This record gives sequence, C-alpha cells and structure tokens, in this order.
Amino acid sequence: MMSQTIDLRSDTVTKPTPAMRQAMFDAPVGDDVYGEDPTVNRLEELVAAKLGKEAALFVSSGTMGNLVSVMSHCGRGDEMILGDKAHIFLYEQGGSAALGGVHPRTIPNQPDGTLELEQLAAAIRGENEHYPITRLIALENTHNRCGGRALRLEYVDAVGTLASQHGVKLHVDGARLWNAAVALGVSPARLVQAADSVSVCFSKGLAAPVGSAVAGSQEFIRRARRARKVVGGGMRQAGILAAAAIVALEEMVERLAEDHANARLLAQGLAAIDGIAVDADAVETNIVYFNVVQPELSGAALSAALAAKGVLINPTGTRQLRAVTNYHVRAADIEQVLEAVEAAVRMPVTSATTSAIYQ
Ligand SMILES: *Cc1c(COP(=O)(O)O)cnc(C)c1O
Repeated sequence: MMSQTIDLRSDTVTKPTPAMRQAMFDAPVGDDVYGEDPTVNRLEELVAAKLGKEAALFVSSGTMGNLVSVMSHCGRGDEMILGDKAHIFLYEQGGSAALGGVHPRTIPNQPDGTLELEQLAAAIRGENEHYPITRLIALENTHNRCGGRALRLEYVDAVGTLASQHGVKLHVDGARLWNAAVALGVSPARLVQAADSVSVCFSKGLAAPVGSAVAGSQEFIRRARRARKVVGGGMRQAGILAAAAIVALEEMVERLAEDHANARLLAQGLAAIDGIAVDADAVETNIVYFNVVQPELSGAALSAALAAKGVLINPTGTRQLRAVTNYHVRAADIEQVLEAVEAAVRMPVTSATTSAIYQ
C-alpha cells in the first residue's frame, strides 16, 4: 500500500514553497489600483524583463490574462483566429465571446500544437462588408490539449511574420511558456519575441499559490489594465500574492527540467505496459496523455482504480487519461505509479466514474 497520494491531475495542485510563504509574510504592500504596491510593481518589472516586453500586468488567473489580452487587441465583432484545441476556445467558457464580443474562428490544431501556416493565411479575412475584421491570432505554448508540445522558436517567428504582414496581432497563451523555454533551451523572451502579447502563469509548474501576468507594449498594458478593472480584476494589497510569484520566477523555472524527465520516465514505463498505448516520443514537457486499450477498462474506470491506490490521474476522454508531473512528484513516485497502472490493467474495475478536470 502507498502511504502518500501521488497527485498527477495537474501542475496546478502544487503548493507554495516555504520560501514563497516567507516572501509573502515579508512583502511590502500598497494599493495596486493606485499603482502603489511595491511588490506588484517589482513582479511586473521582472516579468516584462524576462519576456523582453516593455511592460507587464499582474492578473488573478491565466483565464483572466487571456481574456484581457483578447479584449485589448479586439473590439466587439472583431475576429480572432485560434486552434480548435486551444485552451481559450475550449476551457474558458467562451469568455472572449461572452464578455468581449470577439468572434472566434478556429482552424485545426496539428498534433504538435501548431496551426498550418497556409490555413492561417487563408483564414485571415480580406476587405469585404460581409466579414468581421481579423484582428488577432492566438497560439498556445506549451500546448495543453496537444500533449504539452512545445512550439518551436522558428514556428512562432514564422507566425509573427505572417501576422505582421497582414496587420494582425499575435497573442501567445503561455500558461506553460516556462516549460516550453526549458524544454527547447531557448530564453522565454526570445521565444515570444514575435508576439504582441503573452500571458504566463505562476500557479502551474512554478508552484505559486495564485497568479498570472500579461506582457506587451506600454500601450497594450494600458488597455489591459482597463480591461482587468472592468472584469473585476483590480486587486489592492496584491503584493502578498506577487511576492510568491517573484520567488516562483527566480527559483522554480530551471527545475521544470525534472518534471520533464519524470514525464518521459512515466511515458516510457507506460509504453511497456500491455493494455496501455502512449506515444512516448511525443512527450516533450510535463504532460503525458495515454490511452487504455484494454477492452474491459474505460479511462474513468482506470482513473478510479488508481485513485483507490492513492494515484490521482484524470480521465480526459472515454479511453484517454492525462498525467501531469509536478514539483511534488519524484522519480521514485513514477515507479509506484507504473506499478499501480500495471496492477489496475491486470485486474480491471469496470463500474466507476470520476469527473474530468482539464486545467
Ligand atoms: C491553465 C491554462 C490556462 C488558464 O489558467 P487558469 O489560471 O486556470 O485560469 C490558460 N491556458 C492554458 C494553456 C492553460 O493550460
């Protein structure tokens, strides 16, 4: 029996480190709506520098970061082009349409998370009174629903060139941009050099308790600050939260390589189990999607059987599950996970349901 739960549902389950808690305790604060919180200001300067942009803005979540970015680039009735597996399209309640009035135009995500350049170019609208105006292309790096694949620098640059040739802005949903940068060995700033705006999360693999940021030009951030206020995101002594995000940026980025190594270990182990199918070569960062091919077992049933053994992995489809390695998962834990999966596949439990969480 396992003594401790191994939680692979997401990297959002990570808890703040002792250094973060201390920094939160010690943080000087002020009213950030007045621009007077020194810790928030320090975080925003740090984020802007790390992403090579003029300015940045602290927001409460990745969803808010994407929403205020889309609302800053597009007016009501304008169009945004994005992938059909994009987080913004699938998992944010359609907020950019519901609250921003922005029309989403999807094109298929390729298995590696990219959008084909030809299809992108063809989707940009010409001048015609029947059409909405294309204002924005949104990419996602790493790509959550495409297995945590990291979009290559050359690809992001090529989309940036295409966008600027057509007078369209480029937004990168970089909730896991830090993972992409570490996996590719490229600086985060270089990776988003072609983007007009970027959103990043501190509360996923970096283990901060709360918070995300957006970055871009001074003018973009001026608009984003207004958009943040209208969606209720103007926070006051938010330096308490920003302090943990600063520690996350300074201490928790490089170690993501451990999560990536553990994910590869997990994928290779799963590939060796009869009844499980996984493309281990496609695992580039901390996300592992795998399928149950054992006929008596569903994804939900396998998830429930694992939960009974203290291993938490969410089902993400009838036969599919997603495991996300994170700060609290060690290489030794991966061995235990593999043993649990092997046992569950050998002795299937068929009547079980669990809810799917896709964050
Ligand atoms: C998690 C995630 C978000 C949203 O972040 P929240 O902080 O949960 O709102 C946005 N985009 C991607 C790709 C994500 O994985």
